[in-house]
Amino acid sequence: MTRATRDRVWDAVPLRAAEHSFERLGEPPIAGGRLLDLGNLDAATEAQVLARLLSRDFDAWSEAAARVGHCARPVRLHGHSDTVDTRTGEVLSSFSSVESPLGVLHVRCGNRRATECSSCSRLYAADTFHLIRAGVTGGKGVPEQVGENPLVFATLTAPSFGLVHGIRGGRTCRPFTPQGQDRTCEHGRPTVCHARHGEGDELLGQPRCRDCYDYASHLVWQWWAPELWRRFTIDLRRALAKRFGVPESRLGELVTVQYAKVAEYQLRGIVHFHALIRLDGPKTDAGFASAPAGTSAALLATLVEQAAAGVAFDAPPLHEGDVVRRLRFGTQLDARPIAIARRTDDPDRALTPEQVAGYLAKYATKSATDSTNTDSPHARRLRATIVAVTERIHADARADDMPVREHPYGLLFKWRHMLGFRGHFSTKSRRYSMTLGQLRRRRVRYERALAAAHREGRTLDVRDLDDLLQDDTEETTLVIGHWTYAGTGWDTDGDTELAKAAAARAREYARQRAATRSEQRAATKSEPGTKSTVREEGSADE
Ligand SMILES: [Zn+2]
Ligand SMILES: [Zn+2]
Ligand SMILES: [Zn+2]
Repeated sequence: MTRATRDRVWDAVPLRAAEHSFERLGEPPIAGGRLLDLGNLDAATEAQVLARLLSRDFDAWSEAAARVGHCARPVRLHGHSDTVDTRTGEVLSSFSSVESPLGVLHVRCGNRRATECSSCSRLYAADTFHLIRAGVTGGKGVPEQVGENPLVFATLTAPSFGLVHGIRGGRTCRPFTPQGQDRTCEHGRPTVCHARHGEGDELLGQPRCRDCYDYASHLVWQWWAPELWRRFTIDLRRALAKRFGVPESRLGELVTVQYAKVAEYQLRGIVHFHALIRLDGPKTDAGFASAPAGTSAALLATLVEQAAAGVAFDAPPLHEGDVVRRLRFGTQLDARPIAIARRTDDPDRALTPEQVAGYLAKYATKSATDSTNTDSPHARRLRATIVAVTERIHADARADDMPVREHPYGLLFKWRHMLGFRGHFSTKSRRYSMTLGQLRRRRVRYERALAAAHREGRTLDVRDLDDLLQDDTEETTLVIGHWTYAGTGWDTDGDTELAKAAAARAREYARQRAATRSEQRAATKSEPGTKSTVREEGSADE
């Protein structure tokens, strides 16, 4: 693609969605100068891009693309809808896909994974960020007092199932063999590694010896990881009840535990959990009560560590002839108090609420295939183990005349692409903050208000926006429609590439803006002694 064509593409593709969000923030829209990077397209795709640029409905197309935030694989719908005033029954407006320039309505794919759709995954990450942050500092309908409640950031890891190569903070991977151990394993492979592995080294997370590595235990742990988490939350409540000297059944009259957690794959292909755990006051209808006097984040951190260290679960054998394994979290437990949002002189301060929320949101958009090399010999061996185990399960089931589904590992094969992890990547307790659904409804209301303001040519009053955040806002309009599925994705690869390039440009712009802002922040308050072990990522509007 020539420079001239690129320039043309740059000029041609508007960034409506992005401009709107800047409008909302009171900042000017994008200044020129950044090119739309279409990468190396093959001749056929390039021809499609040019055909789109020269097409008569280009404006309609680019508007449709902007409306879905340049989603890479939007869902296409046919149908119509009416917006009705619920008080009078009057039809305020109608929309029909037949009358729209492209003859079809595009809706975001909504995929949370960055590899599938960078635009929708960013939206998901931003929503996750907001709902996690609201649980830390309040906001979006969550009272600010939650920011005063004890809060802990905990990381619960998996134990070791064998030696793997790792980044050791720039040091040698494994410089020597502990006394009493052999310099080679029984398979004749060295137990030491003198390499200094850097980011991107394909040996990272790979076992030193795949024949020594305990693949069966790795899979059993991964399979029951959600169960370990569940038991951890029970044990934590138990520890709290003991601390307050009340029976567990009455703990809710004193405190409740709220959390948001994400599962993240480590390079060795096993998940670990990052969680924000908050101590609230007694159960109330509104939720979010203040924690009782005498509680602190430090106390909560201690109890979290104790509970996590004590959790155990005896996992059933994989198949006949296999053993029962007592599963625990790894020894690398970490639970640290989070600075209270409004208290900036906290001596324990290691992480800011923004950092933690951004960190969790980022991992919520990852999946097995993003953070581990699923084509590595280690990942292949994990999947091969799943296949082998599944064959034995089927044989056992046949012998016992029992349905495979009823076997404790009967569904393991179904989860082989997740390397045996069947849990959710991002979960939270009911009263942690709000739900993604609530956030989405608010966005729909916002977009509707914005569209109405545009249509009627009036200013959007920011005070009206406050109402959008109230969950109990009485809806005075109702949208009634009938839609049928017409397909998924853009019409051509060229359209897809255009949409992706525009999404990438919007992302780049957001990144630069976030960088500028954090530079400004750093310049205004340089705080020596503030330990920050987590990089600030995934800020609110990224
Ligand atoms: Zn999408
Ligand atoms: Zn190594
Ligand atoms: Zn070995």
